[in-house]
Amino acid sequence: MRPFKHIQASTIEEAAALAAHEDVMVIAGGTDLLGTLKDECLPYYPNYLVDLKTVPGLDTIEETDTELVIGALVKLQDIADSELVKTHAQALAEACGRAASPTIRNMGTIGGNICQMHRCWYFRCPDNRFVCARKGGKECYAYKGDNRYHSILGIEGNCLAASSHDSAPALAALGATIVTTAREIPAEDFFHANGLRSNVLENGELVKEIRVPKTEKSRFEKFALRKSIDFPLVNCAVAEDADGQIHIVLGACYPSPKRMTDAEECVKAGVTEESAQAAGDAAVSKVMVLSHNEYKVEIARTLVKRTLLRLVNE
Ligand SMILES: Cc1cc2nc3c(=O)[nH]c(=O)nc-3n(C[C@H](O)[C@H](O)[C@H](O)COP(=O)(O)OP(=O)(O)OC[C@H]3O[C@@H](n4cnc5c(N)ncnc54)[C@H](O)[C@@H]3O)c2cc1C
Repeated sequence: MRPFKHIQASTIEEAAALAAHEDVMVIAGGTDLLGTLKDECLPYYPNYLVDLKTVPGLDTIEETDTELVIGALVKLQDIADSELVKTHAQALAEACGRAASPTIRNMGTIGGNICQMHRCWYFRCPDNRFVCARKGGKECYAYKGDNRYHSILGIEGNCLAASSHDSAPALAALGATIVTTAREIPAEDFFHANGLRSNVLENGELVKEIRVPKTEKSRFEKFALRKSIDFPLVNCAVAEDADGQIHIVLGACYPSPKRMTDAEECVKAGVTEESAQAAGDAAVSKVMVLSHNEYKVEIARTLVKRTLLRLVNE
């Protein structure tokens, strides 16, 4: 790996001000970022890494009457183990508990999880060999290439890479709010393409905390090739909001997590075996499969049904 200078930030505002510079990136647990630097997948290499782990006060999970407030530096394993999260946002606890491996969950933070870059093998090819659409190039190489892990629900920003963060569909289904150094962003709007980023953060804007409305009813399911350490082929989260409305979000099927409003219509009157099946069918009624990924359709259909049935049967 090429050398870089390491700056330990004392406040999130200081980190944000530094991050606004072109040759600076921020690092939290480093489980995602260091791999991209080692492989030199990006079109640039930072001279400075600003370490967020030295910023105090961002590693707690707190509650108000209506919300959980989760600091950006809370480790995925701590979220998975938290009784507060298991009680009031079970889908998020399940999602964090299914991400990566125990080692990575004990290093990786929730802020890093929602800000990790896409896992497309063209985008992440070592030595930046593919200047793909996400990097400002003309082409998404997955379109004609090996697209077995890519989007089945269409293209976003000329990119077919599938979102790969496990926490993202859970946060979107739960109606969470991402609080940054500049503003508050609904999780449903956060994960959209923005140049190299897999979210709408601007330069010098960092995630401070995540606010999650409490609900006793939410679940998450993930399908991956390996049960131990693997990115999702498809993941799904469902959550009931304060008005009793069920939100259904699919991940790893589109460049950002996607709310399945047609599927939600199917379970408006309640979740039964039949309505859950109808919701699964509706979720995949408008797919745009590529040459190698049609197999994901059946997985998505089944995961929607399975997650809904867990919501009412457990
Ligand atoms: C082998 C392997 C398997 C994995 N499997 C999974 C999986 O199954 N599911 C899954 O979801 N993920 C997976 N990951 C991805 C990821 O590493 C972890 O999920 C982890 O949560 C990333 O957090 P981190 O703190 O280490 O992030 P870092 O690596 O420190 O940062 C990741 C990115 O986010 C940015 N960033 C970090 N914190 C902030 C902040 N507060 N504000 C703004 N930007 C920020 C960094 O600049 C960087 O671009 C895997 C990674 C590896 C290496």
